Amino acid sequence: MAKKEFKSESKRLLDLMINSIYTNKDIFLRELVSNASDALDKLYYRSLTDKKVKIVRDDLEINISFNKDNRTLTISDNGCGMTREELETNLGTIAKSGSLAFKENMTKDEKIDIIGQFGVGFYSAFMVSDKITVTSLSIDSDDAYCFESEGADGYTIKKTSKSDVGTEIVLSIKEDCEEFEYSKYLEEYEIKNLIKKYSDYISFPIKMECTHHELKDEKKQEYEDIKEIETLNSMIPIWKKSKNDVKDEEYDNFYMDKFNDYDKPLKVISSSVEGMCSYKSLLFIPTHAPYDFYTQDYEKGLALYSNGVMIMEKCADLLPDYFSFVKGVVDSEDLSLNISRELLQESNNLKLIAKNIESKIRKELEKMLKDDRESYMSFFKTFGVQLKYGVYNNYGVDKDKLKDLVMFYSSKHERLITLAEYVSEMKDNQESIYYASGASVEKINALPQVEQVKDKEFDILYLTDYVDEFCITALQDYESKKFINVSDGSLDLETDDEKKETEKVNKDNSDLLKAMCDKIGEVKEVRFSKKLKSHPVCLTTKGDVSIEMQKVFDAMPNEMGIKAETILEINEKHPIASKLKDLYKNSREDFDKYTEILYSEARMIAGLPIENPTEISRLICEVISK
Ligand code: ADP
Repeated sequence: MAKKEFKSESKRLLDLMINSIYTNKDIFLRELVSNASDALDKLYYRSLTDKKVKIVRDDLEINISFNKDNRTLTISDNGCGMTREELETNLGTIAKSGSLAFKENMTKDEKIDIIGQFGVGFYSAFMVSDKITVTSLSIDSDDAYCFESEGADGYTIKKTSKSDVGTEIVLSIKEDCEEFEYSKYLEEYEIKNLIKKYSDYISFPIKMECTHHELKDEKKQEYEDIKEIETLNSMIPIWKKSKNDVKDEEYDNFYMDKFNDYDKPLKVISSSVEGMCSYKSLLFIPTHAPYDFYTQDYEKGLALYSNGVMIMEKCADLLPDYFSFVKGVVDSEDLSLNISRELLQESNNLKLIAKNIESKIRKELEKMLKDDRESYMSFFKTFGVQLKYGVYNNYGVDKDKLKDLVMFYSSKHERLITLAEYVSEMKDNQESIYYASGASVEKINALPQVEQVKDKEFDILYLTDYVDEFCITALQDYESKKFINVSDGSLDLETDDEKKETEKVNKDNSDLLKAMCDKIGEVKEVRFSKKLKSHPVCLTTKGDVSIEMQKVFDAMPNEMGIKAETILEINEKHPIASKLKDLYKNSREDFDKYTEILYSEARMIAGLPIENPTEISRLICEVISK
């Protein structure tokens, strides 16, 4: 029978596995056991919803056996099994949901990173075996099939016979070599240890025939080998154990196994709630974003169990979108087992649990922010965008829950701070929270409008993320302090006298300013101001849409035509101001040219495109060569 090729991406991943760049080979066993356990869960769940499938839960189990002579290790389960098609798609392909972009010259660490992100899964068995045989009979099929592969050059699938529904995986363990002693996976002691370490919580028994030396004759000191089937795992789900009885390492291992992460979680949140609706939950905040987190493929949700039995792998209703990065398990006795998914969504108990979980996560994050800033900063760097998005999503309904969790870069501290921290340090004469937005801290620092605010020693929040300004706009104020964009035309930091002076200059030159405004066409107003210290011009805005927001709107696929209303401000103390006045009187033609050049400068500083760069550079050259 012709060998089938693995899909090319799977093949490359397999190559890496076979050549064992993933250093912790031990994990192959937990991956296979965890797949077996999932298959048992699936079959049991099926029996609850499909009367034709009759299962006694106590009969479901995982079996391990080994044979030193043949160098085989066998893991079998009486779970749902796989059809021919399933063997093909599940084992012949990896990374179903995304494309594995292996680049030629990636470092070893980068490769490990990628493998980790996709979950090592079934393929990890190739780290320790040079042949894998999977024999499976699916609950949905009359025939059993056998998948066999010796590694990257392909696999075969053929019909076979198997009496019971389920899957049996036989690994031919590699020969020992200088670097690694593979034979350890054929030792009873080692297998027991690995199961205890990684798979203790699995809720089905993992059984193996074990050998005990028993004293047969005390006088002669004769021992006898007694063989006995043992259950290697305690079967107590980790979330049902008391926090004090679980080591951090066990939580970490559980998380990495269950949620396919190669890294420990940043935070483990375990809780046990008694009341109207009792439940236990074990939640994790990942250290880094899952590889598909910012894609449409990402599905949020927590695994939902009813008294130790899984009812749903990803229950989305348990998590608000702004906490979609949270992974974990919820187990409640107060949810009925054979409840349909639609009914479940309507269940008041589920809603109650979701509400509690939301507030638990929030409190834990607030605590982390207070007690462990370093971890919080790392968390915020990874998932902060999600929280900021939560602030403005749904017209800001959740903003009060999240406003103390968001952070922004402070010009004064040159690092991220919270809004509470900003407000607590506001100066006596400061009424508002100032912010400026731009593509980067450096670019904002260079904004003419920033200079004046900094000069007055007010702290400015620098918004560099595209969601930031939407977040601030949704918040509107914090502790009754309004947010003001330093590029907003209404920003006024002038004294009453200064204001009067500016008003007068603008009034005296109203014709000139109107002429400029008419020439430019697309600005709402042109005015002299004291806002600018050393720069000649800047662009400010009127109303709700700032220049940075307009850029975000412009970048959206379906252009909504939302435009900022702009004002060209001219530094009244800059020599250009008297130059303009002079030209307005004596040379209208030059006045018009200057107007165009100055407006283009202001657009450039604001990071906006210039419609006619050739014409503008021609004008500049003409003016400077005079
Ligand atoms: P993952 O478990 O992360 O989906 P794997 O590569 O470990 O990735 O497994 C791929 C798929 O193969 C599983 O999702 C499951 O559908 C199927 N599978 C693996 N082992 C078994 C098993 N023992 N019984 C039934 N299905 C299995």
